[in-house]
Amino acid sequence: MEPLIVVHGGAGAYRFSNDEERLRYTRELEDAVSDGLKALSTGGALDAVVAAVSSMEDSGIFNAGRGSVLTISGNVEVDAGLMDGSSMRIGAVAAVRNVANPIKLARMVMEKTDHVMIAGEGATELARMWGLFTRSSRFYNEVKLRRFEDVLKDYANGKGYFNRVIKLAGELGIGDTVGAVAMDRDGNLAAGTSTGGVWLKFDGRVGDSPIPGAGYWAQNGVGAFSASGLGEVIIRSMVCIRAAFLVENGVEVAEALRRVVDGVTGRYGNGTVGVIGIDARGNVASSFNTNAMARAWGRGGRVIRVAFHGNDPWP
Ligand code: ASP
Repeated sequence: MEPLIVVHGGAGAYRFSNDEERLRYTRELEDAVSDGLKALSTGGALDAVVAAVSSMEDSGIFNAGRGSVLTISGNVEVDAGLMDGSSMRIGAVAAVRNVANPIKLARMVMEKTDHVMIAGEGATELARMWGLFTRSSRFYNEVKLRRFEDVLKDYANGKGYFNRVIKLAGELGIGDTVGAVAMDRDGNLAAGTSTGGVWLKFDGRVGDSPIPGAGYWAQNGVGAFSASGLGEVIIRSMVCIRAAFLVENGVEVAEALRRVVDGVTGRYGNGTVGVIGIDARGNVASSFNTNAMARAWGRGGRVIRVAFHGNDPWP
């Protein structure tokens, strides 16, 4: 099998104000793919997923890790989860503070505890013990704080995210959540997703990203999937497990993702979801009902493509 990795930087608006901005996102996505490919040259699919997702968490430009959005009270609380398709083991952390690489913490939960998911204080405590604790100041920057004020102002003017979710989703910038799916040379599959959630979420709110079957799923012989969009919609739709069922039942991966997204659109409207996936034969696909979805993939040691909008060449 030729090792393969696909990453995403969220389903959402992606309206670049200039070429420079587009280039910046392109570079970060390429770096994530390169880090994933490097991991695949010496390790397995799970190593690649962790390497690629960590790279995007560290970039500070995606809504994950250091770039995470703020809760209604101005805190940063992140969610992340991953799954190893060969063992079907899962690790996840939810609503955790002071962790810039929650995907690494999720892997520790999977490998070092008897649990699947650890939330809140307990997760921060483990991060402290395992050297993944990050100072609060690392999560803030001027752009983000300015944005927070704007979003708060909108909210005060009755443009609250949770009142008119679908309409405002694009404006408030859902998306920029990150995820990766990979296949290693032995054909093992893995998937992972990491996010800061959505602007102005209630403290303690948990989205789809740490929930297996919703925000990610990996199963050897079937496929690996990672989603982005409105967490509440993705959880109710169980996007990734639904895609896996279709592929398991003989539907081509691209068609499976299309059907799942169409189903979500039918029930909840546009602007709600995006998903990437690979099948066990190494076919690459994505589908979204948002304005755009940042995606990139690589195989055989090199980055092959970066795409944002529906008419960008893909895969
Ligand atoms: N799905 C994430 C959440 O609701 C947000 C996103 O994908 O941008 O937490």
